[in-house]
Amino acid sequence: MGGTVTVAPDKLRTAVRHICLAGGSNEREATLVADNLVLANLSGHDSHGVGMLPQYILAVVEKRLSVNRSVRVAGDFGAILNLDGGMGYGQVIGHEAMELGIRRAREAGACIVALRDSHHIGRIGHWGEQCAAAGMISTHYVNVVGRPPLVAPFGGADARFATNPYCCAIPATEPGGEPIVLDMATSKIAMGKVRVAMNKGEQVAPGTLIDSAGNATNDPRTMFDPPTGAILAFGEHKGYGLAVIAELLAGAFTGGITMHDGSWAKNTITNNMFSVIVDPSKLGGAQSWRREVAAFVDFVKASPKAPDSTGVQVAGEPERRYRAKRNHEGIPVDATTWGEIVAAGESVGVGAAQTNAAAGLV
Ligand code: NAD
Repeated sequence: MGGTVTVAPDKLRTAVRHICLAGGSNEREATLVADNLVLANLSGHDSHGVGMLPQYILAVVEKRLSVNRSVRVAGDFGAILNLDGGMGYGQVIGHEAMELGIRRAREAGACIVALRDSHHIGRIGHWGEQCAAAGMISTHYVNVVGRPPLVAPFGGADARFATNPYCCAIPATEPGGEPIVLDMATSKIAMGKVRVAMNKGEQVAPGTLIDSAGNATNDPRTMFDPPTGAILAFGEHKGYGLAVIAELLAGAFTGGITMHDGSWAKNTITNNMFSVIVDPSKLGGAQSWRREVAAFVDFVKASPKAPDSTGVQVAGEPERRYRAKRNHEGIPVDATTWGEIVAAGESVGVGAAQTNAAAGLV
């Protein structure tokens, strides 16, 4: 099989769907999970793509993730919706939470969606893109509990919180145009990218990790072999500050929990998300925002190329470039990750030959 297999996106979706269905998911859930994970790979974020499936299936088998669960409205205050994910698949819970928030923002002008207790909701840009496709501005703060901490506070030598992502999406300025989607972990890199580097036998960039004694290291194994090290926050005290805000908005105010002793007793990836969804047609810039956004982006992108740079992009562009390339060339999946996916299938009764055939790897 070599170091990497390359799988056509539709075939990869089919393989993931089969495994989810065998895990007990209904067709809709299996399709949402497969579409979400494969879109993450297509977008270049292998850390949040199909490589997550083995963890999901293990959580299903161990009953830490509930299949066929819908989001529950725990409180409805007009422009504020309190939602409970009931530890369902984040790909379903996130989708339904955004549907409810978008509908309410259309009526009320804005909606705060306070979502607690979802299983892993994957790439947060997915939710920003869903809001942007509906013409909404959105911002999302996420915390991660149910697993030991991964990221060290600025000035600290061990991990005290997780990779707490932040996302903000601005809708396209014209029909058929593209949104701006800033979607990032507040750690220097996402934990999934440390896993991908380890599976590929690669080192991470200098200044990304510290070992268990707080010393700098480039070896991704430090995050997996005890005593474990920590990832650093991006942008020193600034990224650390944003991580704290995400932890508190998502963990404390949604009715979820923040990271502290015992938060990880569940031993499964739990996300809480605080989203603000706004209808731009209700804002003072209703008539002018499209012109202003487009003019600003054009102005910024007209900056001359810096030496050794490929030029100026706006957030969301790198993902779209990846999508164009991988839709055409297929999705590379490293052999370790593919082996884990095949084993996940076997754990719910899908034979290796079946998974390989679904993926077109025969
Ligand atoms: P990243 O560093 O690859 O990219 C972050 C952002 O920067 C993206 O919006 C991208 O469009 C933009 N960008 C990248 N290169 C650019 C350039 N040259 N010019 C302009 N903009 C550019 O992302 P990351 O921090 O590694 O996060 C990866 C993914 O992990 C995200 O989708 C995030 O939501 C997800 N994540 C999820 C969880 C969870 O618990 N569910 C936790 C952490 C991270």
